[in-house]
Amino acid sequence: MVMRIDHYIAGRTTTGESGLYAAVYNPATGEQIAEVALASGDQMRAAIDAAQQAFAGWAATTPLRRARILFRFRELLEQHADELVELITREHGKILTDARGELARGIEVVEFMCGIPHLLKGEHSQNVGTGIDSWSMQQPLGVCAGITPFNFPAMVPMWMFPVAIACGNTFILKPSEKDPSCPLRIAELFSEAGLPDGVFNVVNGDREAVEVLLTDTRIQAVSFVGSTPVAETIYRTASAHGKRVQALGGAKNHMVIMPDADLDQAVNALMGAAYGSAGERCMAISVALAVGDVADPLIAALKPRVQSLKVGPGTDNTAEMGPLVTREHCDRVRQYVELGVEEGAELIVDGRKLSVAGHEKGFYLGGCLFDQVTPEMQIYREEIFGPVLVVVRVADFDTAVRFINEHEFGNGTAIFTRDGDTARQFTQAIQAGMVGINVPIPVPMAWHSFGGWKRSLFGAHHMHGPEGVRFYTRMKTVTSRWPTGAGSDAAFVMPTME
Ligand code: NAD
Repeated sequence: MVMRIDHYIAGRTTTGESGLYAAVYNPATGEQIAEVALASGDQMRAAIDAAQQAFAGWAATTPLRRARILFRFRELLEQHADELVELITREHGKILTDARGELARGIEVVEFMCGIPHLLKGEHSQNVGTGIDSWSMQQPLGVCAGITPFNFPAMVPMWMFPVAIACGNTFILKPSEKDPSCPLRIAELFSEAGLPDGVFNVVNGDREAVEVLLTDTRIQAVSFVGSTPVAETIYRTASAHGKRVQALGGAKNHMVIMPDADLDQAVNALMGAAYGSAGERCMAISVALAVGDVADPLIAALKPRVQSLKVGPGTDNTAEMGPLVTREHCDRVRQYVELGVEEGAELIVDGRKLSVAGHEKGFYLGGCLFDQVTPEMQIYREEIFGPVLVVVRVADFDTAVRFINEHEFGNGTAIFTRDGDTARQFTQAIQAGMVGINVPIPVPMAWHSFGGWKRSLFGAHHMHGPEGVRFYTRMKTVTSRWPTGAGSDAAFVMPTME
């Protein structure tokens, strides 16, 4: 019998009531290791009840007390890091060191939110009129929801719930059904840190459970990270039901390699950014734009590196890349490789024949490298989300910028050059939310905010950092005076403060 994974509602592990379960696999072996409960609509509504009941008490808890719980939570996350990292690798497949990096980036958000008393200070003006003061307050919204993808089971939820909860909201997380164990364990640790029951709930499920989060009138805000078609639907439905929404979607991140770039640095950067986590990162580089005569030496340098990528189970500490998340996803990426060949691109390295000794049933695919890719091809236009790097040869910088700006997605992008003027022009002109200069994966730190442009983000707010605090609070501005003596006469004109 396989292990059952349930929900975490109102501070307790709660068994599924719908009788519906989804299989959870270990991608390294291809075996089913667990089944996760899929919540019914009623069970999701019960979780919203719990979060709603907890809201008044938590919103009234002083920011300093909330911060102290976050400090303890941070310590517990560090103490249990090995256990959490193993859970990520077991269900997602990424190598342990990469899982540790993901957890560290999540912990940084908790660290930033420990400063919540400072972040909620607001603004104050004395004497906006004679004897009149004015100030702004940021107050929590109520029950907030997060729906997250499989590729970062720790980090992406931690872009959301520590921010929402620090601001005084309660939260329901609906993690990916492919790797739910890490967020559930994190919820237990948050309770152990002193978080009151019902403030953070993790409810597993699929479309039915999500539907309730998008339509129930008690949910005030929805944060989503996942693929673009789902992000767009979530944005439309939740907005139509009067909620604040931030919905982050897919990506096709381009890296421009200028002829003056340091080739070794560019190749090292491309290897990690294209093949790390088997390309299953929203900030992975999946397109290399080789400018001018850099293409031939670039391909010559990349080819042996891609051919010798060490692929194996995430627990093998010599592996550079693990398996893909599921058999279906692995097959889908293989189909893209076939499609690229049919479309006329030149397959320089074909990872499809790879077999990992002792793990023949795992969901592995070796690194793939295409040359001579053009913007009309589907392998250029669509997000593949696997270890496939496509090289597009462009004549000049302006063409590289145009290709990036014309692409449907605008999550991240990078340029490798030794020239400051070129780099500056790039940062000014490029239509993407996150830009790297000689940095291949420019993921903003916790005290900045993360988000893309175009069809990589629906909504006005990026995640975590100052944008996150704005998203999870609403502003109230108070204008106050304490008059003495006789009251002034009734005024029938628009008041001014002169
Ligand atoms: P996905 O869109 O399939 O699923 C994301 C979440 O939505 C999961 O919790 C899933 O259960 C739920 N979901 C799926 N279909 C749904 C539906 N029809 N209705 C309601 N809920 C639904 O994405 P995924 O495959 O888990 O993750 C990979 C995708 O996420 C990639 O496209 C990647 O680029 C994107 N991603 C983007 C960012 C970013 O910051 N922009 C970060 C990480 C991942």
